[in-house]
Amino acid sequence: MGILADRESRLLIDGTLVAGSAGTFPTVNPATEETLGVAADASAEDMSAAIAAARRAFDETGWSTDTALRVRCIRQLQQAMRDHVDDLRELTIAEVGAPRMLTAAAQLEGPVEDLSFCADTAESYSWSTDLGIAAPMGIKTRRTVAREAIGVVGAITPWNFPHQINLAKIGPALAAGNTLVLKPAPDTPWAAAILGELITEHTDFPAGVVNIVTSSDHGVGALLSQDARVDMVSFTGSTNTGRAVMADSAATLKKVFLELGGKSAFLVLDDADLAGACAMAAFTASMHAGQGCAITTRLVVPRSHYDAAVEAAAATMGGLKPGDPDKPGTICGPLISERQRERVQAYLDSATAEGGRFACGGGRPADRDTGYFIEPTVIAGLDNTAKVAREEIFGPVLTVIAHDGDDDAVRIANDSPYGLSGTVFSGDEERAAGVAARLRVGTVNVNGGVWYSADMPFGGYKQSGIGREMGLAGFEEYLEIKAIATAV
Ligand code: NAD
Repeated sequence: MGILADRESRLLIDGTLVAGSAGTFPTVNPATEETLGVAADASAEDMSAAIAAARRAFDETGWSTDTALRVRCIRQLQQAMRDHVDDLRELTIAEVGAPRMLTAAAQLEGPVEDLSFCADTAESYSWSTDLGIAAPMGIKTRRTVAREAIGVVGAITPWNFPHQINLAKIGPALAAGNTLVLKPAPDTPWAAAILGELITEHTDFPAGVVNIVTSSDHGVGALLSQDARVDMVSFTGSTNTGRAVMADSAATLKKVFLELGGKSAFLVLDDADLAGACAMAAFTASMHAGQGCAITTRLVVPRSHYDAAVEAAAATMGGLKPGDPDKPGTICGPLISERQRERVQAYLDSATAEGGRFACGGGRPADRDTGYFIEPTVIAGLDNTAKVAREEIFGPVLTVIAHDGDDDAVRIANDSPYGLSGTVFSGDEERAAGVAARLRVGTVNVNGGVWYSADMPFGGYKQSGIGREMGLAGFEEYLEIKAIATAV
């Protein structure tokens, strides 16, 4: 692995690191706007070669049935990442704009350690279940249910938590016996390409099992959905792109697994510690500049305490100045790109146009004219019909909405096309559990509990996705089920 400066990353196709046929494209440090180096730019032909390699490795090698080999390779990749964790950390801070403190958790070290769960699950998994002998239609039959890999998986990932999302697909897909082509976001090609270097230098992965294809062209990723040689697409990204992936996959009826956007609610019930809850909501919404799909971006508080809630949220959020992600104390770094900053600014403008006001923040920080920074912002004075309450912003923006009791709070939380996550705060755990049970979302935090871990399934209801990532459910997404009936 080389140093960061002037790095030129390559594609991994059929076990070999190669240049992209379409040349290279730059990767940019979002905190400084400096070009860090370049990544290989794949063409449609490169993608086709990667799919062919994955197809061949699945159809013509013993990969899918050699569990011991798969477990060994995954553990080798994990160890290589641990051994290079300091280089990976610098790369992540520079390319993703991820605050240094988050690299000790979900931005890097967490997902590396989570690979253990994938290897352990493959080792202990019951690949077949004996249902015993029965006589359906009068024919004595021994029945077995076998689980086996789906085949070639196309993994398409976004830029916000690249290691977490790349590994949460690579880990279970490969542990389950599939082969794979990873197509990362054009904003963070290095986080994926570095895996190619580690795989070729430090692991026994057979050629073609893992292929990594970076590209500046979203259309190259779309080929994974369209190509008949791919059996499944595992996609994380925006809901709109998820729709395109699903539509493209329809022609070949491949399985689609979708982790999409969110507009999650943080419900504060009237018996909760209001100031503590609002401070936590504000802190969470500012983390990594709000670029997390499951961040609770609607703070729903009792109407009678609305002003106090806005004040408490603004006191925390106003104090979390966006800063250099390299500094140990920074929690809110830059957005990923100029395009994203403009997008977030347009949402902030829509809030004031609809009659809302900023209790703190509201635009670019005055002291930062380079870097794609935006101030952590609390929006008050709007209800759940406002654009900023309905659409995913993907910036450090919290909209405070009033509720008139528990039923109304649940109604507001569920009044969204999304259903990814939610939080409930109450002084009464049973009451909080009752409200949590009524939320139409895939993960719920009650009074500060953490649902993120390798053995917990993560995913969304409604337009937040289809399927679950991580946990046993996330492993089984990558398996087919075969029923075998043997006459006895
Ligand atoms: P995006 O949808 O723009 O891009 C995601 C990936 O899809 C990229 O690799 C991109 O190149 C690729 N892509 C774009 N068009 C495509 C097409 N037509 N066919 C196939 N691939 C295509 O998302 P983004 O802006 O990179 O990431 C932010 C979004 O990701 C947010 O909406 C966020 O909520 C979502 N996200 C969801 C989760 C989750 O687990 N639910 C996690 C992280 C991010």
